[in-house]
Amino acid sequence: MNIRKRTVCRLCDSPAVELVCPLKPTPIAEKYRRTREDAQQIPSVSLDMYRCTSCGHVQLLDLVDSSFLFDVDYTYRSGQTKGIIEHFQKYAADAWERLGLKEGDLVAEVGSNDGTLLSEFKARGARVIGVDPASTIAQEAIARGVETITGFFTPEVAEQIKAKHGKAKLVVANNVFAHADDLQSIAYGISQLLAEDGVFMFEVSYVKDVLDHCLLGTIFHEHFSYHAVMPMQTFLRRYGMELFHVERNTIQGGSIIMSARAATAPHATDASLTEILAMEESTGLNSRSALEGFAEKLRKLEEQTIEFVRRVKKEGKTIAGFGAARSGTTLIAQLEIGDVIDCIFDDHPDKAGKYSAGFGIPVYKTSEIATRKPDYIIILAWVFAKKIMASNPAYTEGGGHWVTCVPELQITPP
Ligand SMILES: [Zn+2]
Repeated sequence: MNIRKRTVCRLCDSPAVELVCPLKPTPIAEKYRRTREDAQQIPSVSLDMYRCTSCGHVQLLDLVDSSFLFDVDYTYRSGQTKGIIEHFQKYAADAWERLGLKEGDLVAEVGSNDGTLLSEFKARGARVIGVDPASTIAQEAIARGVETITGFFTPEVAEQIKAKHGKAKLVVANNVFAHADDLQSIAYGISQLLAEDGVFMFEVSYVKDVLDHCLLGTIFHEHFSYHAVMPMQTFLRRYGMELFHVERNTIQGGSIIMSARAATAPHATDASLTEILAMEESTGLNSRSALEGFAEKLRKLEEQTIEFVRRVKKEGKTIAGFGAARSGTTLIAQLEIGDVIDCIFDDHPDKAGKYSAGFGIPVYKTSEIATRKPDYIIILAWVFAKKIMASNPAYTEGGGHWVTCVPELQITPP
């Protein structure tokens, strides 16, 4: 596995990047192994967050080779989460309406995963083409009738699509702009693929939500970029694309969908864009002090958690985790709870029965909560905390306590 350090900003190539939020080295999250020994072999890599002093972009600079991050055992599937399926249904319906798409228009998706979103456009009569590097998951998309090119999206792939299908009325890239290192090559490829009246739409987690709600769990190695609108506006202009609309939502604790048009496309600039740019400017969103404030909040969370763990361990109580999500590994590493969690409960078919990356914590099915009866369960899949508590009433009734660490330490019932 290769780890390398980027020395210039991912968006503007400026070498003036400063460390604003140092984080503890963290095991590469989405790797589960059949034995504890194998799991403990997964290396820990820095998650330090940097800020470009030139364009303000917040980013990770320590890069794990993408072929390691997104290889055959990459297990994230859009179609596995009900909330995500519903989100994509709305996403496609809104885009179809707002952009005035028609039957026969080409919709291309960069990072099309299992084809969940593209199948929504296909159902409306669009021609669709996906590109995704995770081969197993791309095969699943093909099996459901979504034509998919297996590999990374490059300007060459854009040419290949253009030659076979023509130019795209819409190019979507959800999370890809957060999860890819070479954004310049991807943006160039997209600009080449877009029709003269085409639109590029992408969804990423929004750095304002990460900072405001202390979304520690959104920080992991596949997540290279923590986007704001202002740096993206400057960046996309270099490729002849102009932002004209943004929409925030609560996916992953706070995401933003940005729409950019080809320079020649007719879409007018929406008030949503001017308003958010004004807000980013007035709140100093990408300033050094905003990010240092976030780092300070994290230090406080860590102190609270360590204090809690020390107290209950002294009382001889047992602690487990719930949710083998990617976010969980970051929480475990940053809050230093790897040694105190006896097991993690999760029903994910690729994770239950295996061991977590780095820490080697066993993952059991949730049906085992009743037999193992831990005194405290720390919710690692922080986004779903309410749902998790509501769907496991027997644990609370039997005297168990749920613990959420983000945005602050809370024990339910107290
Ligand atoms: Zn920059």
